[in-house]
Amino acid sequence: MGQNMGEEKIMLTVKEKNHQYYLKHCEQERVKARRYYWEHREQKLAYAKNHTQEHKAKVQVIRRLSDKKMKQEVLAHYSISNPPVCIHCGMTDMDVLTIDHTNGGGSKHRREIGKGGVSFHRWLKMQGYPKGYQTLCANCNLKKLVVKRERMREVFVEGN
Ligand SMILES: [Zn+2]
Repeated sequence: MGQNMGEEKIMLTVKEKNHQYYLKHCEQERVKARRYYWEHREQKLAYAKNHTQEHKAKVQVIRRLSDKKMKQEVLAHYSISNPPVCIHCGMTDMDVLTIDHTNGGGSKHRREIGKGGVSFHRWLKMQGYPKGYQTLCANCNLKKLVVKRERMREVFVEGN
């Protein structure tokens, strides 16, 4: 029993010593870490900034690719082929191909559903590709509008 007490006492002393050693060195470590942080702060911040920018750039590339894929999918559905073409003149340049409302009022409808560009493509897909749309290039789209205006003017002049 007495022997055990002695062992415990020694154990406690060792524990205490370890604890004090820890406290002393812990403070040293903390100081070291703090110094390291301040010495390398700019470097670390620069790295973090770079890393964030890189990450953002990567996310943007992925988003742009998936937006492009979505656009191609929707345009192809309202075209006569995949890759999509303008159903009037056969233009294949994806950058100038658009979804046209066959009965007009496309921009009004877009305003109503509050979606333009990519969101509009997504909306069409989510609606299960509703009828009344076609793939046109920007030129044919504009031409359609011009012809429509001319016809309206004729009707107006004739009616007058
Ligand atoms: Zn065209």
